Amino acid sequence: MQTINTAKSLSEQCRQWHKEGLTIALVPTMGYYHAGHASLMDKARTLADKVVVSLFVNPTQFGPNEDYASYPRDIDRDTKIAAEHGADLLFAPEPSELYAPNASTWVEVPEMGSLLCGVTRPIHFRGVCTVCTKLFMLTQADYAVFGNKDWQQQAILRRMVRDLFYPVQIVGVPIVRAEDGLALSSRNVYLTEEERRQAPEIFRGLDYARQLVSQGETKASVLRDAVLRRWAAKLPLGRLDYLQVIDSENLTQLDQITVPASMACAVQMGKARLIDNIRLN
Ligand code: AMP
Repeated sequence: MQTINTAKSLSEQCRQWHKEGLTIALVPTMGYYHAGHASLMDKARTLADKVVVSLFVNPTQFGPNEDYASYPRDIDRDTKIAAEHGADLLFAPEPSELYAPNASTWVEVPEMGSLLCGVTRPIHFRGVCTVCTKLFMLTQADYAVFGNKDWQQQAILRRMVRDLFYPVQIVGVPIVRAEDGLALSSRNVYLTEEERRQAPEIFRGLDYARQLVSQGETKASVLRDAVLRRWAAKLPLGRLDYLQVIDSENLTQLDQITVPASMACAVQMGKARLIDNIRLN
């Protein structure tokens, strides 16, 4: 596996591969790898001839009071994991490599980006769309692999790619969870012992809603109340940001489960803001 730090070298290497008739799968990440990231790399390996993993803590998707500076980083360990999971190229640029001092162009999906996480993180998805655009342009990847954990991110990127005819196919990968159900996240390292003990309740709550749907419940307010009651008893350290029943594709809030629907949430636990989602039907 080669490691590349400049946009120019990344672009040249990917061009060369395409000239040779090889396909490319891209896995965008912010690093501090866990089994969720590894499953994205494994999926990419099955899709294309060459796997490019990008490791970049993207400053423009963090708000002023968020954890950009303290976001966990371990490039040596990440380099090993990416190589073990079949990456051909690790792209690990400095921010100045992707953002010129007077960079002033943004890509945005404003409506979808203002829902759910966008309420408390108003610039987040603009940063995500912009950095993914840069990565798609530099690599000209045939496939880009994203985790279902960040469901809103994936839905927004699918919309961006469709609307602007980006020549890349977005591929989603199931959420990888700890044995007790907690969705793996680089931010789980922020949890205290007691917070970590309670955190699986987030998934158990969502899964309870899914069970209610499988037993015939279709009203979003009933599902939401059932989960909130459960969390009030079992997740006292969690502070709710949002819990919504949504149309899985366009992310709008649903009153009734009539179309493919998901339940999505964000819960603040101490220093960690945890997100999760489940498909309900
Ligand atoms: P991040 O490094 O947290 O920005 O995540 C990079 C990619 O890994 C995104 O596409 C995430 O959705 C995906 N990802 C993160 N955690 C998980 C997980 N537990 N299961 C599956 N994919 C994940």
